Amino acid sequence: MRDCAFCRIVSGTLPSEKILETQNVLAFLDIAPVHYGHTLVIPKKHCENLLDLPDNLWGEMGQVCRKIARVLQKVLYARGFNVVMNNLSAAGQVVMHAHLHVIPRYTSDGLQFFPQESYHPGDMARVGQQLRQALS
Ligand code: AMP
Ligand code: ZN
Repeated sequence: MRDCAFCRIVSGTLPSEKILETQNVLAFLDIAPVHYGHTLVIPKKHCENLLDLPDNLWGEMGQVCRKIARVLQKVLYARGFNVVMNNLSAAGQVVMHAHLHVIPRYTSDGLQFFPQESYHPGDMARVGQQLRQALS
């Protein structure tokens, strides 16, 4: 897609620090890292988000993520890693070309991604029932 930054990275018209390339997937460094080594894993084909990503690409992206995670542990001494995917703008997706963030983590680095809350009494069962019903 012409106006998509990540398609331009795939085609080579926008520079990037590439880490790994497979038949259908590319991994490159995020330009604004949470920690050094923060990597983005994308399908070469333009897909907007998880919902329009074919299963084979999703699987190949997962394999690439595992390789990136291992190399972050080995080379940058990451003690853990987060794999994060923002889908649609309400969830913080800024670049509308599907991508997984692989973020190296360190003991006591102080990052907390999401604040959590508790259910009001009865709400957990109600929401569970609604979702099960829609899925059946
Ligand atoms: P998201 O909020 O999930 O859409 O994240 C998009 C990510 O892409 C952000 O973390 C940006 O820092 C990163 N990003 C945007 N443009 C580039 C680029 N040209 N090269 C590398 N990373 C980029
Ligand atoms: Zn694209």
